[in-house]
Order: sequence, then structure tokens, then C-alpha cells
Amino acid sequence: MATQLRTHRAAETAGTEHGTVVTLGGWVARTRDMGGVVFFDLRDASGKVQVVADPDSVPGLEELRMEYCVRVVGELRPRPEGTQNHDLETGLVEVHATELEVLSTSETLPFMIDDRFDVDELTRLQYRYLDFRRDGMASNLRARSHATAAIRAALVAQEFLEVETPTLIASTPEGARDMLVPSRLRQGSFYALPQSPQIFKQLLMVGGIDRYFQFARCYRDEDFRSDRQLEFTQLDLEGAFWGEEDVRATVEVAIVAATQAVRDVTPATPFPVFTWQEVMDRYGIDKPDIRFGMELKNLSTVFDGTAFRGFGAALEGGGVVYGINGGALGLSRKGFDELTETAKSHGAAGLVWAVVEDDGSLRSPVAKFLSDEEQAALKSGLDASVGDTLLVVAGPWRTTVEVLGHLRAQLGTPADPDELAYLWVVDFPVFEETADGGLAPAHHPFTQPHSLEDMKERPAVALSHAYDLVLNGTELGSGSVRIHDSETQSEVFDVLGIAPEEAERRFGWFLQALRFGTPPHAGFAFGMDRLVAILVGATSIRDVIPFPKTQRGVDPLTGSPNPVEPDQLDELGLDLSAATKAALSADDA
Ligand code: ASP
Repeated sequence: MATQLRTHRAAETAGTEHGTVVTLGGWVARTRDMGGVVFFDLRDASGKVQVVADPDSVPGLEELRMEYCVRVVGELRPRPEGTQNHDLETGLVEVHATELEVLSTSETLPFMIDDRFDVDELTRLQYRYLDFRRDGMASNLRARSHATAAIRAALVAQEFLEVETPTLIASTPEGARDMLVPSRLRQGSFYALPQSPQIFKQLLMVGGIDRYFQFARCYRDEDFRSDRQLEFTQLDLEGAFWGEEDVRATVEVAIVAATQAVRDVTPATPFPVFTWQEVMDRYGIDKPDIRFGMELKNLSTVFDGTAFRGFGAALEGGGVVYGINGGALGLSRKGFDELTETAKSHGAAGLVWAVVEDDGSLRSPVAKFLSDEEQAALKSGLDASVGDTLLVVAGPWRTTVEVLGHLRAQLGTPADPDELAYLWVVDFPVFEETADGGLAPAHHPFTQPHSLEDMKERPAVALSHAYDLVLNGTELGSGSVRIHDSETQSEVFDVLGIAPEEAERRFGWFLQALRFGTPPHAGFAFGMDRLVAILVGATSIRDVIPFPKTQRGVDPLTGSPNPVEPDQLDELGLDLSAATKAALSADDA
């Protein structure tokens, strides 16, 4: 009869009757030779249990090294009084080994399988399989799996269909660069990897599949900004005969399920809803962290007619004066200079600071230009107390609030870092201005504007039925009510400067689909990597992605991306430019 490799997992020994003979399989985590008796921790996916063995009766013990993979047969016994470990699930028992088999040996490890030791991230990624043996990564992967399972169960319970959409597609506009895959069978043609399943999920709605979801892998070829990946996973969903409230209610079901699965807490629903205008005005950012106050205050009326030119000129030019109360910052002159530089780097003409002295007067480089009434109104407008630092910016509304939003995010800290503050931001503008002064969709071009007339007449300020979900100052995802008729869709393409012929060539098949009785529909997608990272308290999304790329887009384990053989390029009908070839051979040299 074949030997049974395992009867129990390590953690199960905690609930197993003493005296039971168990067979365990796992890794040798820590050995202690106590003169005559050897103790070691056996670790498997479920946890650890202590094994006790006598070298005289258990052959092979002396060869045991860290991370050897072994099979142990032994009797489960209570640990003697005084040797119990109440911090460990299995800390009241130990396995008295009668048999030990080394299933596979291990070379010396590049790092300790012990979370107490910091290991540089590149080494962790290069030996990711060993990183999984450490508690941190193992528990992050478990959390992620639990979150996924909980979301799936919650949506299936609401009769959502999980549908897979293709990953070799024609390009979908989401605002980033496509990753391309050359076709061998149609040389010179390329598939795009999806930036999202957006068009396909809309086609599902046209097809009458009225509640759809998918854990969708999405690809965006962006330059590396902090904590982004070329490929990432979104929970993507869509519903027909839906408006914004339906989307919000369903996304909340999914988010609550994931939060309960990972954190064992139930966030209060419905999540607060803010308009885009309101969050910009109160927090200076479209993804505010509302776990702390320090809200922006409009001080324009306070300085109406002021003699201080810094504020007066901005107001006369149609601008605004806004401020925040940074609290007791206790900054030195140098600290204020640095804050001023930050404000300027975000577009402010300058930053006015003032500290409330013990006698209630203001210490500020501009105090002498402000009347007593203005000083008093400034203090009361920002609800200032002795010791508080007040920061004031003047200029065009958008720049002014955004500058203060940056300062607020930099200076504020939540009282309870574990708090989860979910919120919705609704009514985003349809378009945003691009660096070259053109218009780009603030969300994507399938978003329903509030009013078509408004969109055409005042595109720069027109609003849309687009909304974001925010958690603790991070944008988790976005969605919108979609355009469901081809005329409106064509008009949006038109405002975006996509000529009818181009729209027909790129999206003709989609415009066609919209002409066959498309139901009103709406949807959303949120990043699973980002959500799980925040829920487990990881500092980077890479810590909840099993095999992530580095910030430079490289996988240190497999070495991808790699150059390919000349034959492979031939088959695809591709040739590299002379410059690329030269760069490759320089790399080789
Ligand atoms: N496709 C969008 C995105 O990936 C989400 C949505 O509108 O549903 O951001």
C-alpha cells in the first residue's frame, strides 16, 4: 500500500484528540537541540506545530536543516505544563515523532522565512516562491482569495452572471496606451490586451444579460507612476435597467462582503455621497481622505476689497481666496519655506501662512498688510485657536483648491489609521482639459452626460453621470451610467474631435449594436489589488499580487520582458529597427 503522505494539516492538530497518531507534511521551520531531544516547528499552509523527537529512536534527525520538506508520523500529546505557547493556535500540543522522512532537501536560503527580518523587495520578487512561505505573503494571498470568494458569493446570490470576455481584442479607449499582441495569422495586424472589458460588458447588456460581473485582468501600458502595475485585476460589473443608485447599492454589497471577509468588520451603508464640486471645494481633491477634518474654507468674502495685493489681485481677476487650518504644526521658517515650494510646484502663485500667538495675534509675513477685521475674520473663518497654523492661497478656483488639497493630504493624519472611510463622488465633469488645451473624457467616452445641450455648448464645465468610489484617500474604482443610443454616442465622439468616419472605422460595430434596442445600463469597476492592499494594511499593491512586476515593468523571477528569437519575429512578419537591434546587442555585450 502506498504510504499516506499526510493525515492532518498542522493547524488541525489543535482540535484533534490527544493520543491520535498523525502524519504531517511540511517544512522544517526552526530546530532546537535540547541535549538528547530535538524540537522543531513543522510549518505547512495552515500554520505550525511543534514536533519532539529522540535522535536515538528517530533516524535522520541529525540531517535535518531549515526548509527541508519532510513527512512526520507521531503521536499527538499535550505539551507539559510551563512549555505551552498561548500565542500559537497549536501551542498546547506537540507531536512526538516516531518516523521522519526527508521528502526533499533545501539549499541555504537567500533569506530567512521569518517576517521579523526585513528582506529587500527585489530579492523577495526574485524568490517569490520562498516569499510565499513567509507569514506576510501567505496571509495576504489568503485575504485576497477570501475577498474574491466573498464578492463572488454575494453577487451570485443576487443572480449576477459571471461572464468571461476576451483578452485579445480590438482596442478599448480608457485613456491609457494599449498593450499590443502581433497576429501571426494576419501579419501586420495586432490585438490589443483589454484596458477593461468596457465594450464587451455593454454588448452583454444589449444582449439582455442584465446583471454581469467578472474578475477581469486589465492591461494599461502606462509609464510607471508609484504603485501601478501594467496588469491588474478589477471587479467589473454592469446592470441593465439600472441607474446610479442601483450601481452604488450593488458595489456596496460587494465591498461589504470583501471587507467582512478580510477585516471582520461591516462598514456602514449606504456610503456617504459627495458631488465632485463639493469634494473639490471642501477637500481640494476628487479622492479625499475624510478620516480627518482640515477642510478648505472659502475666505473670498473676508478679503473682498482688501489692501493686500496678493489676495486683492486674485479676487479682482475672478479668482478666490481659500484657506485651511493646519492645526498645531509648530513649523520653523524652513518648514514654511518648504510648504511654500510645495504650493508653488502645484501651481500656486504663493502661500500665505499665519500662526496664532498666545495673545491671539497673528504671526505672519503678511500680518502688517491685513486689517484687524480681516485678521479676526480669517481666524474665525478657519475656527483658529492659539498655536494653530493657517495656510491661505489665492488664485483661480481650481488651482487654489487643488493646492490646498495637496497641503491638506500632506499635513493631515487620521486619528485612527485602521478606520475605513468609504465614500462616493458623483457628478464628475464630462471632459477634462488635456495638457495641450484639448478635451479628453474625464472617465471614458461611453459616459452619459447630464445634458447633451450643455455638453455641446459648455463642454469644459458640463457634468456627467460618472462616479468614483474612494477609500481612505485612494480611488478604488469608477463607473458611469452609459450612453445607450448611437446618436448621443456619435455626438460625444464628435465633441472629442473624433470625426464620423473615424468613429465609424474604430467603433462602427459598437454604434451598430446600440441601434438594436439597447436598454439603459450602468456599471462600475474597482481594483481588487488596491482594495485588498488597503484592507490588509499593505504599503504597496505588489504585496497582494502573487507575481507582480517591479516599478520598471520587469519580473525579476522570470526575467520578462525578454527579447525573442529572430525566427519568432519572422513568423510574425516583424523586424526590429536598427536602433533597437543596436540597443539589444549593447545590452548583451
Ligand atoms: N471600464 C471602466 C474602468 O475600467 C469602469 C466602468 O466604467 O465600468 O475604469
